[in-house]
Amino acid sequence: MQQVQHLFETPQTGQEQGFALKLMELLVIPTFVLDLHGRVLIWNRACERLTGVQASEVLGTREHWRCFYHQPRPTLADLVLQGRSSDVAHLYDSHTRRSDDNDSLTARNWCDMPRLGRRRYLAVDASPVCDGEGAIVAVVETLRDLTEEKKAQIALEQLATRDGLTGLANRRCFDTTLHAEWQRALRQRQPLSLLMVDVDNFKQYNDAYGHLGGDECLQRIAAAVASEMRANDLVARYGGEEFAVILPNQSLKGAAIVAERIRCRVERLCLPNLGTEKQFVTVSIGAATALPAPESAPCQLVATADAALYRAKHMGRNRISLTNGSES
Ligand code: GH3
Ligand code: MG
Ligand code: MG
Repeated sequence: MQQVQHLFETPQTGQEQGFALKLMELLVIPTFVLDLHGRVLIWNRACERLTGVQASEVLGTREHWRCFYHQPRPTLADLVLQGRSSDVAHLYDSHTRRSDDNDSLTARNWCDMPRLGRRRYLAVDASPVCDGEGAIVAVVETLRDLTEEKKAQIALEQLATRDGLTGLANRRCFDTTLHAEWQRALRQRQPLSLLMVDVDNFKQYNDAYGHLGGDECLQRIAAAVASEMRANDLVARYGGEEFAVILPNQSLKGAAIVAERIRCRVERLCLPNLGTEKQFVTVSIGAATALPAPESAPCQLVATADAALYRAKHMGRNRISLTNGSES
């Protein structure tokens, strides 16, 4: 604690010093302070509670990162101390620079919290403590546990973009993604493909197995379709027993290959459909591709894929149909 005395420019009485330290100790905001050499000078009780690590274990060491992460990495206080503000962007989930203070950093991140054994989402502020000449003598870091708020935010986002039954993207997410991918394809002069996938004779399936049986069938089909996707593709529940698949930068030929894979995959699930003379549940798929132009719109791509789907149904179901009229 003697080192703390050097932090303050104005000489303080031992009593004042003791009072300031006590205050810091009892502060309900988790706080720690690093000295000029990156060693822990103060680790208050709220910080002990947050991390599960006692002050006696970290004081005087540079091991404070272990209280937050499994792998070695700098804390926000280290970045301030080392003047590495440009590293915040890749080390943190989100960050801002405090408008009132250029030398301070504010960031948010998921932390491993190894001692507690459960991840916490922390909001972190780190500010330098300077002497009379403006030279850094220490850095103070304060933390706030925002895990519950973050979880609520993630749940809300899930609710807004996911379909409750299948866990796939919902119609709203499909509309936004299609619009964004259309704009991107337009900019990059790349093709954009779309598949409309509709379960065959699903009304009869419901009649034979009940609505809950139908729900389960839709979940199995959704998982099968999703398993055929690449990282940049998006599969959504378009509505009812219909799914839509956005395939960025994919030609009609490529889209036809994906469509046929999906059709086979569903057929191979061998979900019995007593409701029809066909043995198993199958899907029909309409595929369309566009090279977006400024005067065209994504709804035209949906209409074309829909028309192709209608054709696949008309041709006898359990098949794919492409916009250029070739069927398989
Ligand atoms: P087609 O081969 O021409 O597509 O025939 P279909 O019977 O599949 O088509 P139709 O449009 O006549 O019926 C769709 C059925 O899908 C009717 C509806 O009750 C059922 N359905 C839509 N959404 C759900 C759902 O969330 N759960 C269940 N179980 N059934 C659903
Ligand atoms: Mg159907
Ligand atoms: Mg339908």
